[in-house]
Amino acid sequence: MTAAQTAPSPLSTTLPKRPLRVAILGATGAVGQELLELLAERSFPVAELIPLASPRSAGQKLAWQGQEFTLQVADQALFEGVDLVLASAGGAASKQWAPIAAQAGAVVIDNSSAFRMDPAVPLVVPEVNPEAAFGHGGIIANPNCTTILLTLALAPLAARRAIRRVVVSTYQSASGAGARAMEELRSLSRTVLDGGEPISSVLPHSLAFNLFLHNSPLQPNGYCEEELKMLHETRKIMGLPELRLSATCVRVPVLRAHSEAVNIEFEEPFPVSEARALLAQAPGVELRDDFEANRFPMPTDVTGRDPVAVGRIRQDLSDPNALELWLCGDQIRKGAALNAIQIAELLIAGPPAAGGVA
Ligand code: NAP
Repeated sequence: MTAAQTAPSPLSTTLPKRPLRVAILGATGAVGQELLELLAERSFPVAELIPLASPRSAGQKLAWQGQEFTLQVADQALFEGVDLVLASAGGAASKQWAPIAAQAGAVVIDNSSAFRMDPAVPLVVPEVNPEAAFGHGGIIANPNCTTILLTLALAPLAARRAIRRVVVSTYQSASGAGARAMEELRSLSRTVLDGGEPISSVLPHSLAFNLFLHNSPLQPNGYCEEELKMLHETRKIMGLPELRLSATCVRVPVLRAHSEAVNIEFEEPFPVSEARALLAQAPGVELRDDFEANRFPMPTDVTGRDPVAVGRIRQDLSDPNALELWLCGDQIRKGAALNAIQIAELLIAGPPAAGGVA
């Protein structure tokens, strides 16, 4: 089985190789701020930046690269002549503005879940299914953060031996719920340390010295939306529509970076040494597998960094065909902003000859 998804159709689905007019929808949010940082850090070719936010922030100033910008509310006229829209303002704003921006000729890379399962919209992790990016019709979806991190570890293994089933438990940080949830964790932690009663208003429960099952809506089958996103999006990205995957998603009192405990059952035994060697070379992956020192990935290892750290790769004692591993990744970065910018860079570079990108 391969990680390939959609056949390339490079006709005008690339981005021009010149400085681009870039709009950021949701520029004040956790992902929006990271997008701004990464555009600067990666010297992304920006001719003009158009930062957009909600009416709450309209008129406020935003500094970027030594320049001051005024935050605006999205408007059809603002998308005229824009080459690239990086959208991170939630599903409702994306549903409203992404089609309008695409109609105006922009390529929209959307961080929300609004279009991810639309069969006409590619769902792209550049290291896994780069060719899919070139099959877009104006909108490309950036996958769910936990799913991006997971597929970086699954894809190199799936390319070697067929996967039968994946069971994953996540340990998701406050930042996955946005900038206000991070601030709530900080302030409620202070409240608890001061002997007070932590009362949450952003998240459904206080995360301070606590954890709870993921706060996305529960479905009739008992899974929450986040868990089902992991199932459906992993299938779509990896081009494995029958993949069996079960997830349990948990919010933990970590400010930033998600972790995942992953059990992967293959069709046949997969030697640990071979899996380790594959993951050591996999693009976007950093191996942290020091059994002697009992030193494996931690959220603080990856905070503010690009790679997904993978370690504790071991034989599942209960199943000769299964491996266990542990991974941590900065979900605002690789799980959202970095992945989106890598997609844009991919569109500028043009279709890859074969395989993934480094
Ligand atoms: P956030 O910190 O709450 O930021 C939300 C942003 O959207 C703010 O800039 C907000 O502007 C803006 N906004 C809200 N309503 C708007 C509207 N009607 N028009 C224009 N802008 C509007 O959220 P976030 O964590 O950055 O997440 C943003 C999106 O990325 C969501 O769809 C989320 O699911 C997705 N995502 C997040 C993560 C993550 O780790 N945080 C990972 C992957 C994907 P104001 O400041 O003016 O309110």
